[in-house]
Amino acid sequence: MSAQIIDGKKIAAQIKQEVKLEAEAYLARNGRKIGLAVILVGDDFASGIYVRNKINACNENCIQSFAHRLPASTTEEELIELIHKLNDDKTVDGILVQLPLPSHMRQNVVLSHISAKKDADGFLAENAGNLMLGNPSLNACTPCGIIELIKSTGRSIDGANAVVIGRSNIVGKPISLLLMENNATVTMCHSHTNNFINFSRHADILVVAVGKKGLIKADMVKKGAVVIDVGMNRQDGHLCGDVEYDEVKEVADFITPVPGGVGPMTIAMLLKNIVKAALALE
Ligand code: NAP
Repeated sequence: MSAQIIDGKKIAAQIKQEVKLEAEAYLARNGRKIGLAVILVGDDFASGIYVRNKINACNENCIQSFAHRLPASTTEEELIELIHKLNDDKTVDGILVQLPLPSHMRQNVVLSHISAKKDADGFLAENAGNLMLGNPSLNACTPCGIIELIKSTGRSIDGANAVVIGRSNIVGKPISLLLMENNATVTMCHSHTNNFINFSRHADILVVAVGKKGLIKADMVKKGAVVIDVGMNRQDGHLCGDVEYDEVKEVADFITPVPGGVGPMTIAMLLKNIVKAALALE
């Protein structure tokens, strides 16, 4: 039997609905909306679209967005000065610097100036460290969305054998920690793993975050697994994941499509992070 499709759009819409109710209650209590400052430096086309989507999502869900569109010629010092102003601005609860930054800027240096309390993306060392220590933190949005998608299947994460392919700071590492926090036994694979099929074939939960179209074939997946495809690859103008969807859905019990799986969850979880940040600062 074919796998059930995990509908990321539907689950993201439910989360946005919850966010909107919390944001409206915040407005009623405080007389102002929760605020997100979004900084875009330069004119990268894709970044422009991502920023527009995030701003629209804020506007639709009772969150005030403050867009700062800066020219590519902006210096690192000027950008850091703006971040400090936003750190001190009481109407701003979350700050997001759209990546990538122009090549003359040191990304890590710039991000390190954002207050950890306003780290909407959950990328800062302080938040990543708190996640590792099991302390409250603002976590990276895509991994949080993945946990929601897995939970939506009704399959237990507790005790599951989870395999994560990819070990980036924004997806692979944090999702591994979140799965472990939910009591899965986690194996991380990466480009130096010898024959990751030896691990993936035993995974009850398989999360693939590599960025290589068609990497995961049916014979690499355990029958009945939950398969989460994080990959976003463009081919001939179409978006596709890392998983050979048509063949893997005949083996897995649950699978995310690309598009329409993990992608929509990232913005929904960003909104959730902003609310979490605002409530902590209230
Ligand atoms: P990344 O930073 O490029 O990391 C890719 C990871 O894959 C690395 O850890 C790398 O290993 C590993 N890898 C590369 N080739 C491999 C192979 N043949 N076998 C096993 N592992 C291999 O990528 P990322 O930022 O995590 O993103 C991964 C994918 O997810 C991309 O397609 C990206 O567009 C997508 N993405 C989607 C969303 C969303 O919202 N849907 C969000 C973020 C990312 P090494 O560490 O050894 O190099």
